[in-house]
Amino acid sequence: MQEIYDVIIIGAGPAGLTAAIYASRANLSVLIIEGGVNGGKLSKTYEIENYPGIEKIAGIELADQLTKHGQKFGAKLISGNVEKIIDGENKKVVLSDGSEHEGKTLIVATGTKERMLDLPQADRFTGRGISYCAVCDGFFYRKKDVVVIG
Ligand SMILES: Cc1cc2nc3c(=O)[nH]c(=O)nc-3n(C[C@H](O)[C@H](O)[C@H](O)COP(=O)(O)OP(=O)(O)OC[C@H]3O[C@@H](n4cnc5c(N)ncnc54)[C@H](O)[C@@H]3O)c2cc1C
Repeated sequence: MQEIYDVIIIGAGPAGLTAAIYASRANLSVLIIEGGVNGGKLSKTYEIENYPGIEKIAGIELADQLTKHGQKFGAKLISGNVEKIIDGENKKVVLSDGSEHEGKTLIVATGTKERMLDLPQADRFTGRGISYCAVCDGFFYRKKDVVVIG
């Protein structure tokens, strides 16, 4: 019979991995399901300078450390895209490959998706002049001319 987890977490970004640390340290059985890259958006970030206690770290490195930390206390991490959630006494998640997992509690930590600028070459300049996070990147544009859209 398939295991019924205490907690299923959808998304292995900073939020999901943090939840995994807390839940598994509380002796709960935890399954994390990630449909993209472990570490979430951190893995797309060049450099992080605002994580307390760490003055500067490459996004991909912090993503890697968080992914390891998230599994350190027994949480299981699998790769898969959650397509459907069936609510009931337990929560059932259905992945795009048809496989199913059941948990008593579900944490949805799927992050957010920015509405990208519909401009020529916007993709090319993302992270190189076009930013979607003022608190993350505002500091890098000190004393520069900045246009705020939205
Ligand atoms: C270019 C860039 C630079 C940034 N720089 C900084 C910075 O310097 N400092 C800072 O504090 N923040 C920065 N951020 C923001 C920071 O990365 C995010 O705030 C943080 O990653 C949000 O964490 P999260 O776990 O909520 O979501 P995410 O990191 O978005 O993680 C969500 C995860 O859920 C997964 N997922 C979504 N849907 C499904 C599904 N159906 N099935 C399975 N998995 C799914 C996604 O693949 C993803 O891995 C930056 C972001 C970007 C894009």
